[in-house]
Parts: sequence; C-alpha cells; structure tokens
Amino acid sequence: MSTLEKTIADDAGNLSAEDRAFLGADVYRSHAAPAAAFRPETIEDLKRIVRSAAAEGLAIHVRGGGVSYTDAHLPKSERSVVIDTSALDRIVELNERDMTVTVEPGISWRALDAALEKHGLKVPFVGTFSGLAASVGGTVSQNANGHGSNANGISAESVVAIDVITPDGTMIRTGTSGSGEVEGRFRNYGPDLAGLFIGDSGALGVKTAITLKLLRRRPHSATASFAFPDFASLHACMSEVAATKVEEKSFGLDLKLSQGQIAKQDAGTVLSVARGVWKSSPNAVVAARSLIGLAKAGRRVLASAPYAAHYICDGFTPLEAKAKLATVRAIGLKHGREIANSVPTVVRAMPFQPLHNMLGPNGERWVPLHGLFPHSQVAAFEAEFAQYVANKEADMQRHKAFVGAMFSSIGSGTFLFEPALYWQDELMPYHERMMEPDYLASLPRYPANPEGAALIETMRTDMIAMMDRHGAAHFQIGKLYPYAKGRDAGAIGLLKAIKAELDPKNLMNPGALGI
Ligand SMILES: Cc1cc2nc3c(=O)[nH]c(=O)nc-3n(C[C@H](O)[C@H](O)[C@H](O)COP(=O)(O)OP(=O)(O)OC[C@H]3O[C@@H](n4cnc5c(N)ncnc54)[C@H](O)[C@@H]3O)c2cc1C
Repeated sequence: MSTLEKTIADDAGNLSAEDRAFLGADVYRSHAAPAAAFRPETIEDLKRIVRSAAAEGLAIHVRGGGVSYTDAHLPKSERSVVIDTSALDRIVELNERDMTVTVEPGISWRALDAALEKHGLKVPFVGTFSGLAASVGGTVSQNANGHGSNANGISAESVVAIDVITPDGTMIRTGTSGSGEVEGRFRNYGPDLAGLFIGDSGALGVKTAITLKLLRRRPHSATASFAFPDFASLHACMSEVAATKVEEKSFGLDLKLSQGQIAKQDAGTVLSVARGVWKSSPNAVVAARSLIGLAKAGRRVLASAPYAAHYICDGFTPLEAKAKLATVRAIGLKHGREIANSVPTVVRAMPFQPLHNMLGPNGERWVPLHGLFPHSQVAAFEAEFAQYVANKEADMQRHKAFVGAMFSSIGSGTFLFEPALYWQDELMPYHERMMEPDYLASLPRYPANPEGAALIETMRTDMIAMMDRHGAAHFQIGKLYPYAKGRDAGAIGLLKAIKAELDPKNLMNPGALGI
C-alpha cells in the first residue's frame, strides 16, 4: 500500500468525487479536480497528510474558506491533493495578559470575532467582508484589506507569529516562538520570518497555527456618508481622510455598485441588520433613529450619487467616535456633500454579511480584481480605465455584462482600486454549494453565455495589464497577478532560493506567486 493510500485509509477516506470537484473550484472557475482531498480534524492529521502527499510527489493545495478568485488554491493537474482546513477552526490560546490569540488556520474571521467579543476584545484587523467564510489561514496567506484596516492596517499587520510545516515535515516557528519554556509573543526578533510566510499564497509551506495581536473593543461608533460629483473629488476626500487615520473602516463606491451590490438587501438580511443595529446602538432611541433613517434613505439617496464614500469611526465613548467623525466630516464636506449614512450603519452593525455579493444584484456572475496604487498614479490609471470601459460599452451590452468599482485607502500612501465585472451566465456547482438555497431561489437564472464569459476574461486580462503599466501591487496574488514580473532581480532570486530550500520538488501550490 502506498503512503497516500495508507493515509486515506487511516483518515477514513478520500472525500467524494463531488467534494473533490467542489474543493478544486473558486468563486470564478476551476481547472482540474484533485486526485485526493482531505478535511483533517486535527493538526496532527494535517501534518501527516502533508508528509504523505509529498512522499507521493503530489502537489499540495491548501484551501481555507475557498472564497478567493485568483486561482489561489486551485490545482492545475489531477496529480494533486487539496487539504480543506475548515475543520481546523479552534482557538488554541487566548492570552489576555499578553494580548494575543493563537488560532488554527481554518477558523473564520466571524467565528474568531464572535469568540473575542465575549471578552471585549478584537483583532486589530477584524476580518474581510467575506469573513463569514474566509479563514485566518487563507487571508494571512494572501494579504487582505478589511474591517479595522484603516485604523490598524491590513491583515499582515495583526500577525505576531506563524507555525508552518514544509513538505518534508520540518516545522518552522517564527519570532520569539521556540522550544524554550516561556512562549514568546513578539514578531520582530531578528529577521521577520513571519513576514516570509505572510502573502506567500501557500507556496512556501502549510500554516498550522497563527498568533494575532489583540486590542480592546471600542463599543461606540459614528458613521457618515458623502456623495461626490466625480472620481477626482472622491479620491481627494479618501486620501485626505486616510492621512488622519481616524476612521476604523471606509470605502468608496461608484454608481453601479451603489445601485446594485451594496444597496440591495433582501428581507432576511435587512431583518438581521435591524437586529444588529439595535444591538450595536447605545440605547433604544438611537437604534430607532438609525432604523428609521435606513428605511427612509436606503437606495434613493445612493442611486443619485456618481460616487459615494462611507465612513465608520469607533470610540471607547460616544464622544470619541463623534470627535473622530467630525474630522472626517470636515474633509468630506470640502470635497462633496453629506448623504444618509445607511450603508456604513448596515456595515458597522453587520460586518460579516451573508455572501450574497458573490453574485450580482440580479444573480449575474461576478469576478472582481484590484490594484494597489500610490496616490500619485491613481488619476492616470482611472482615466485610462474609464476610457477602456467606455470603449467596451457596446460589447458589454451585447453580452449582458457590466462593470462597477469599489475603492479603499490602504494606510496613508496607497489607494485600492477594485473593479467588479458582472455578466449573465449559468452558475457553477460552487455557487450552489456556497450560497443559501433560499437566496438563490429568489434570483433569476441565466443560460450558459460563453461569449459573455470570454469578454469578461479578456477585460480582466486587459485590466491587469493596465494596472501593471501604472505600477500596481496586489493582494491575493495566487496564480493570477504578475508578481514576479518587473520585481527587483535580487529579491526574486532570493525568493526562488528560499522556495527551493523549503520546497525543492515544487509541490507546494505550484504556480503560486509565478515562481
Ligand atoms: C463576497 C466576498 C467578499 C470579499 N471581501 C473581501 C474583503 O473585504 N477584503 C479582501 O481583501 N478580500 C475579500 N474577498 C476575497 C477573499 O474572501 C479574501 O481574499 C479571503 O481572505 C480569502 O480567504 P480564504 O480563507 O477563503 O482563502 P482561500 O481562498 O481558501 O485561500 C487563499 C490562499 O491561501 C492559501 N492558504 C489557505 N490556507 C492556508 C494554510 N493554512 N497554509 C498555507 N496556505 C494557505 C491557499 O492555498 C490560497 O493560495 C472577498 C470575497 C468574496 C467572495
């Protein structure tokens, strides 16, 4: 019996063919179903599967929540194993004295946040919009912007230490973690080896534990929204507010997204949001006022603004939250006009909403992409982007497709430009399994639309090349973004040498990072 067959037997079996096909897909597509797929329930099982698969010479692809769209964990050949970490979702240690939490890689951001809330704590990077499914391991492996990012940085900046297993079974523990009796909780002890595995797209090893920083929760919040006549005013406002770092979370939307994705809430979501608003409001009067505001303002206000930006400020007291918002408002009113704050109120009350945005407002297929630009490049990129979309308008109408865009500030110097592409097409089995049946039943269905899908793929490729010309960086590099192209030769040489040392047979997520 081969090592892998023995592992399969020991682990009560390889998952079914249907499961394997599902685990070999992401939000956008699939290439090949893996020969084997496992859902280990203990870290020891995870390590054993990694060692056995490597001994068999099979490619190893680790899946967290599976909610990315850059071929990140996708096998390209059948000679591969997918390891689904969703059952590795425990909190290993909550250390309130040293303000750290250590988790297994498969825990979702929402599950972690719900557990920490009971202690009045949070991770500085609270999680992605997709945090209902997205895992800590998957997110740390590819970097992300999310709740808390404006105040506290991207996912990488919340990491203290990482435990990794390499294909030959070597365990690596970073920072002050080690074999001594006192477990250290400090990342920057010598070279930043945690940083090596952050954003590695799973190409350098399998994360078995992640230690994150903790903060006390700020229970009070204040929100505001602003409308802008054009993109330049939105960008001016967002970059100026970002330099103050007073906001917990902010994001901008163009008209297409304001009217569609974000403004559309089905009855179930609205009810949950109402409950959330009630819970997060300091008293019933404020809650009632928020809910009335939501009902009145809703889509009408949003539908009228070419661009809108939404702000959430948190405080230990209502005064602190309001004072921070006053700074935002002074800047917002310089560049735009204030509108009803329904969107940020909903987002603050319910940061981890159902994954309905995996499809368009009318059940269209969806694939986003993004670029991280220095502020100095944003205007030139946006002009080229707008012209490109205008040139494609007739094609998009013919093939029932459209484009929207979302925007965020990353720290004070970087701007995230995130186009979202939609087209009418049939759903993949992936969507049927990831989304609530009741919600899917409420949406129109479309026949297969290969011409529409081809148009979207062309536009996605063109937009990535356009981003590249303007010096964009990317989160979620996966197997999509041209990370290795144009990087410093010394840096890429070093990375390739590290890959060869940790994974000499190139078994860890081959193709990831393009190295
Ligand atoms: C509706 C929706 C909203 C979204 N919102 C946001 C958002 O607000 N911000 C944002 O940045 N992104 C967002 N995304 C994109 C995506 O959800 C995030 O990138 C998220 O972090 C992916 O996490 P995951 O657990 O699903 O990772 P996966 O897709 O499962 O994996 C991502 C990568 O990590 C690797 N990996 C996973 N676990 C491990 C491990 N234990 N060891 C080594 N490698 C591992 C995988 O091999 C893969 O390369 C959104 C997606 C959707 C569908």
